[in-house]
Parts: sequence; C-alpha cells; structure tokens
Amino acid sequence: MSDCASASCPRSLSIRGHGLAGALLAETASAAGFQVKVHDAGLPAASRVAAGLFTPVTGQRLRLSWRAEDALPLCHRVYPALEQTLGVSFYTRLPTLRIFSTAAQREEWAEKPCADCVQTRPLPPLPIHAPHGGVWIEGGGWVNVPVLLDALRARRVARGEWGEHADTDLRIDCTGHHAARHPLWRETGWRNARGDVLTVEIPGLPGGRIYSFDKFLMPLGNGQFRLGATYDWEETEPVPTARGRQTLESALRAFTDLPYRILDHQAGVRPVAVARVPVAGPHPDHPREWILNGYGSKGVLYAPWMCQNILQYWQHKAPLPKETWAPRRIQRQRDRNSTNAL
Ligand SMILES: Cc1cc2nc3c(=O)[nH]c(=O)nc-3n(C[C@H](O)[C@H](O)[C@H](O)COP(=O)(O)OP(=O)(O)OC[C@H]3O[C@@H](n4cnc5c(N)ncnc54)[C@H](O)[C@@H]3O)c2cc1C
Repeated sequence: MSDCASASCPRSLSIRGHGLAGALLAETASAAGFQVKVHDAGLPAASRVAAGLFTPVTGQRLRLSWRAEDALPLCHRVYPALEQTLGVSFYTRLPTLRIFSTAAQREEWAEKPCADCVQTRPLPPLPIHAPHGGVWIEGGGWVNVPVLLDALRARRVARGEWGEHADTDLRIDCTGHHAARHPLWRETGWRNARGDVLTVEIPGLPGGRIYSFDKFLMPLGNGQFRLGATYDWEETEPVPTARGRQTLESALRAFTDLPYRILDHQAGVRPVAVARVPVAGPHPDHPREWILNGYGSKGVLYAPWMCQNILQYWQHKAPLPKETWAPRRIQRQRDRNSTNAL
C-alpha cells in the first residue's frame, strides 16, 4: 500500500513507455507501494543510444544546468542504490576535462558557475589540442542506460507487472519524442533534436576522464570511447546520417591527431520541449492522463529528481516546480497559438 497522506492519492498507475523516464518513474512508484504496470511499444528510444553523461555544468557558455543543485545529489543517491538492489553495475563517477575552444570562453570561465564543481588544477600532458587550456568539472559521470533499463525490465516482467493495463487510477505517458505526434500531448510544444553518436577506438588516448570540447569523448575501456553528439533540429527520424558522422569525425580530428577507428554509429531523437525543461503532470482536459517527458539531453540528470517531485505530489500534494507543470505548459502553448492566429 502506498504511503499516501491524501484520500485522492492514486493507488494504481499504468505507464506507457519504458525509456529512462518511464522506467525510473515505475521504479520510484513501485518502491513507494503503488501498483504499477508498464507497457512499451518497442519503438526507437533515445535512452537506447544516449551516452548517459551527467554533469552540473553544460553548454557552450558553461553554465550551471537548471536546478542542477537539486537534481545532482539525487543522481548520486538513486543510481548507486539501484545498482545495489538490481545487482548490476551501470553507474560511473568521472571528472570531465572541459577544453576551452576560444580565449573568450576561458575568460568567461573566470565567473565560476559553482564553488565546488570546478577545479583549475593544471592539465596533464595529453595527446590533444588544447591551446586555450581547460578546467576540471567534478560531480558528474555517466550511467549505462541500456544496462539499467534491461535490469529494471527483467525484474518487472518477473513480477508480472509488464503489459497493457487500462483500468488504473492514472495513465502516464512517458513516450519520449513520440509524444509530439500524440493527439493529447502534441500541443505541449516540442522541438525535438535528432543526434548521432559514434563508438570509436583511439589507441593512445588515456581514459579515466570524460573529454568535453566541441563534442564529448566518454571512455568505455580498452581504448574505446563514445563520441557525441550532434544536434539536428530539422531531421527528426532516429537514423544515423553521413552528415552526423562527418560532423563528429571532423570535431575529433580537430581535437587530436591520434588515429582512430569507428566501431559503431547510432542515432536517436531527444525529446525536447519548447520550454527546454522537463514536463510533468495531468492533461488539463483529462486529469487521469499524465505526462512525464521533455528530458532533452539531460535525462540522466533530471530523471531521479523529477520522479521524486512527482511522488511528493501524489503522496502529499507538494507542488511540482512550476516550470515543469504540464497544465501550465499546455495553457501557455494554447495562449501562444491563439496569439499567433490573430
Ligand atoms: C545521440 C544522443 C545522445 C544523448 N546523450 C545523452 C547523455 O549523454 N546524457 C543524457 O542524460 N541524455 C542523453 N541523451 C538524451 C536522453 O536519451 C533522453 O533525455 C532520455 O533518454 C529520454 O528518455 P525518455 O524515456 O523520455 O524517452 P525514450 O528513451 O525515447 O523512451 C520512450 C519509450 O516510449 C516507448 N513508446 C513510445 N510510444 C509508445 C506507445 N504509444 N505505447 C507504449 N510505448 C511507447 C518507446 O518504445 C520508448 O521505449 C541523448 C540522446 C541522444 C539522441
């Protein structure tokens, strides 16, 4: 039985979509005593190609991510705890070596985004191009998302909690970029972004840290790295493209003269909402239909925190961060659409 302070608290949930969003929500709700059933249609999922990086600081302007100070501590708690209960290993803490691409970027860095997430210790000698130097970003790492999802799915199947189940208090749509075509959710407002990622072998490039330059290189061991990722706002089919591969290869060649070999090429579509932050909550016209989506390129960072927020709402009516609240977001889109129609 779930720990609910309110009589209106839902008891049973059916979750559509077992990517990072649906899987972690299902796990959080089950652990809190809700009855949960999950269905996944087996469609292309961003979670299956994501590099799984998380870091407090991102973007060209090296700013603290929105609500990172709340979301990051939960990553450090939730993922290792899940490793323990599932008996699989998928969570790695690693520093990121952030290489400045211009002198201006280095100057901008002088205004640190957070006190303890940046370290300016000297760069070690490395076979890379870093004429403007760099800094170390602490507090991040990566999650092997497919390993996590497979373990969660296997346990849910074993418990008989896998499959369609319409007769529940709430239905939650966690369908990633597919929501943009859903009759209820398309008006949330989407700006999905296709992305390519390569697996490359670069003998001679030390691991032990994530390299962040124009792109990123994430060490997998044995001289292998994930190289990513591109952003394509025009094409929204989750298929690898020659253009994506070229973009990544030319960034790699600018970063190091070391020879490399491409082992794999994947692509997916990030679910990006117009407001650029996650979206969660009921549909304004259908209160039993919920959404949790819009993780963009930061699903690993936001998933544990958003699940905690949702749980607090269901159990104690604690409001979700207003920026994420689905009825508000949908109303804003409606207002925008009616202004544009004038
Ligand atoms: C190239 C690339 C690199 C990335 N790198 C990172 C990274 O380093 N770090 C990071 O945090 N994020 C990264 N991301 C983003 C990350 O993948 C997403 O934020 C996250 O995986 C989104 O999870 P989701 O569950 O919302 O969607 P998805 O993973 O897309 O899952 C949606 C699921 O819904 C299912 N589904 C769809 N429609 C239905 C239906 N009608 N009924 C039932 N099931 C349905 C699908 O089968 C799918 O399994 C990357 C994305 C890409 C494309």
